[in-house]
Order: sequence, then structure tokens, then C-alpha cells
Amino acid sequence: MTVLIILAIAVLIFAVARSSARSKSGRSTAAPRRPYATPESRPAEPPRAPNTFSHSRLEKFEKCPKAYEFRYIKNMPESFGTIEMFLGRAVHSTLEWAYAERDRRGAPPCSKELDTHFQALWAAGNSQEMRVVKKAMSVGTYNAQGMEMLKRFERRILAGDKTQTIALEKQFRMVLSGGAAFTGVIDRLARDEAGMVYVIDYKTGSSRNVKGPSQSRQLQVYGAWAAEDQGAARIGLRVEDMQGERTLAHTWTTASRSTLISSLETQIAEVGRARKFPALISPLCGWCGYRPHCSAGRASWGA
Ligand code: SF4
Repeated sequence: MTVLIILAIAVLIFAVARSSARSKSGRSTAAPRRPYATPESRPAEPPRAPNTFSHSRLEKFEKCPKAYEFRYIKNMPESFGTIEMFLGRAVHSTLEWAYAERDRRGAPPCSKELDTHFQALWAAGNSQEMRVVKKAMSVGTYNAQGMEMLKRFERRILAGDKTQTIALEKQFRMVLSGGAAFTGVIDRLARDEAGMVYVIDYKTGSSRNVKGPSQSRQLQVYGAWAAEDQGAARIGLRVEDMQGERTLAHTWTTASRSTLISSLETQIAEVGRARKFPALISPLCGWCGYRPHCSAGRASWGA
């Protein structure tokens, strides 16, 4: 227990130092994703800029307009967090740390170090307060899943990765027509020896739900931003499917930019105009932290 407490303190010191170093270098202002705060302990989120959209915001509307209304119109906090979200944050934070360490030392951390860092983050959070929806699973099985994902990633990618880091957890904002804006966070932006720039996104959910970048407008818009930021005509898009142990790749070119941005602007305008927010019952209701407030969800899934 003492060892875990010391490790947790070391992780927090690292996160604060990284955050401070980033603000000094101006590379990224995104706060490290930590799994500590539980939604139960969070106050209502501050109102979001009404005309600023992200992939999560658009996806929320697509999956359930009622949940979108709770989150983005009424600015309500979710009444519980899920273990999948907690696991995703712990894995993302560990990978952010791993590349920062690799760049600092000139050699990547080994899988044991990844595991130690992951466990310290996990212990510093409130995993026991997270909701476990799948019957056959427990907090412990998700923890084991995280360790396994990191171990395999270290062997498959990290150990031999020669790409240079441009930014980690890079937050960006893209101004669109009609006064709207799109914001995103790129897990890792990197460049290879030939000068090709890559947008890399880690997915920790079930492999069967992971879309490749040729099918993902999220990744393509991230690519469009990176192309402009880096002055590149082509961007390598990479989705790291952490559970499925595979890399899904696509090369995005600026030739498709106007079609992509115009379809994004159309969708944003539609969502921005919406005044009705029907409940869309689906298996996702099981994971929805707004269910206690949603009569349709409660009727189908219980509180
Ligand atoms: S419980 Fe289901 S229907 Fe209700 S807001 Fe959540 S996802 Fe939508």
C-alpha cells in the first residue's frame, strides 16, 4: 500500500510538471486525462460555448438526442461514471506518459514500467465507484484488460517506434463557416523519418466497434487540422485498436478537404438548429449517466 501511495504521488508530480512544461512551450494546453474524479463528485459542468462542437458532442446527438439535451443544452452532470471510461482515461494517460518518457530519455519505457505507471494511476482514482454494466465483468477484470492492452502495445508498437513526437494530447480549434467552431484532442501527433505526419488515436473499447480512419470523420477532420497546422498535403491517420491489437491506417489528402468540411458544417448546423430532443432507446442506455433523469430510459432499463 505504501509503495502504491508513493507511486501515486510520483504520477501526480509528473502530471503537474508536464502540464507546466506544456504551457511554457505552448505545445499543448490539454490537461492530462486522469481517472481520479468521479462524476458523482463533480459539480455541473460549466455551460459550453453554444456554437463550439466536438466529435463527442456530435456523436452524443446521433446516438441519443435526449442525452445530448441533458449534457449540452441543460449542462447537467452525469449521475455515474462507467468503468470503461475510467479504463480509457488510465490507458490514455499511461501512453501519454510513455511517449513523454521515451522522448526525454531517448528510449521507451518497458512493459513493467508501463504497468507500474498504470497501476499507480488506477490506485489514485476511484475505480470502485465506477459502474460496471456488463454482468460477467468486474473492476478487477477491467484493470487486467488495461494491463494487457499496454503490454501488447509496448511489444507491437512502442518498443520499435521511431517516429518523432510533435505533440501529445494536442488540443485544437478549427473555425468553420457561420461562426461555428470544431474542437478536438489528438492523442499523439508524430512525424516519421521521411517527414510524413501522423494523427494517432487510441481506442480502448470493444474491437468490434472500432472504425478504421477511412470510415471515421473524426479522424479525417483531425487530419484536416493537422495538414493545415503542419503545412502537409497528406496525413497518415492511425487508429490503434488497443483491444484488437491492430493498427487501422489511412492516408488522408487535402483533395478531400472541402467535401469533408462542408459535410461537417452541414451536420453542425442541423444539430445547432435542433429544438426537439427525443429519447433513443438502445443498449447504450445501460451506460448512460443521465438515465436517472430519463423516464424512457428508466422504463426500459430501470434506474
Ligand atoms: S437513458 Fe437512454 S434514452 Fe435516456 S437519455 Fe440516456 S441514452 Fe437516451
